[in-house]
Amino acid sequence: MTDTVTARSSARAVERAIPRTDRLRLAVPNKGRLQEPALRLLHDAGLVFDEHDRSLVAHVENIDLDILFVRTNDVVEFVADGVADLGIVGEDLLVESGVDLPRLRSLGFGLCRLAAAVPNDAPVQAFGDLQGRRVATSHPNTTSAFFGARGIDVQIVPLSGAVEVAPRLGLADAIVDLVSTGSTLVMNGLRPIGDVLPSQALLVANPDALDRRAAEVAGIDTMLQSVIAARSQKYLMMNAPADRLAELERLLPGLESPSVIPLAHGGMIAIHSVVGADDVWDLLPRLKAAGASGILVLPIEKVIP
Ligand code: AMP
Repeated sequence: MTDTVTARSSARAVERAIPRTDRLRLAVPNKGRLQEPALRLLHDAGLVFDEHDRSLVAHVENIDLDILFVRTNDVVEFVADGVADLGIVGEDLLVESGVDLPRLRSLGFGLCRLAAAVPNDAPVQAFGDLQGRRVATSHPNTTSAFFGARGIDVQIVPLSGAVEVAPRLGLADAIVDLVSTGSTLVMNGLRPIGDVLPSQALLVANPDALDRRAAEVAGIDTMLQSVIAARSQKYLMMNAPADRLAELERLLPGLESPSVIPLAHGGMIAIHSVVGADDVWDLLPRLKAAGASGILVLPIEKVIP
């Protein structure tokens, strides 16, 4: 509640400080875990702006967009109020806010999960074993809805940080907290018992802006999407004897089919193909075994289907 009030007043302050223009506004976290990958995505998408302006607003030079740098917890409020037309926010925060903003795209970073965990020596194995127990969390709405939907009655202990120390301090029997690698849980003698919500960074929109400025919003979404698609793929180039083509083609599905170029030396070809970034290491020895040589693995900047 207090957070919401703070977000509202900072949204109003921004409205007063930066007169509304026709330029679209994108709200981005001004610090924290999501900030650096969000800025990298925007730069990789080709947006030109000066990060020294990060304190409040950055003017994108090559398209009609302003970037508002706001607290991570304020992004949803800024977009919901229409102070920003678009926002980059963690899915966990969107769900916790209870605001139903249109989700345009999953952005492929900020990957984590809201998980329930208990002290290593607790007899608890499953969610149902938490019946009647105290659960500390900085996501009280999401946690309460999750247990409520399963008919499990828990007592929520809302905390704003350091949730993982709550059981050790005797404040709670379990926690529901964000986990990525799980090392913080291990360090605190905790064991996960199940996931409450998977989360990653999302591009969200103000419903009115989505309606009135659909083409501009779609333009920005496409720019981001082309980078996200490119990040999950690699461009492979290799030489091979022409008579091994059929065998190599079976290994290389590509975007459509591989490009095959004859080489100056008779009987040799060059093959170019796009493959999943996660498949590359598995694929390389199989390509070599099928006759490929001089294999190059290149990053892709953008993919526009
Ligand atoms: P911040 O508090 O500004 O550092 O941002 C926290 C947001 O980063 C969360 O709401 C999640 O969406 C995301 N995130 C990703 N991994 C984690 C993690 N292991 N712990 C906390 N937040 C994470």
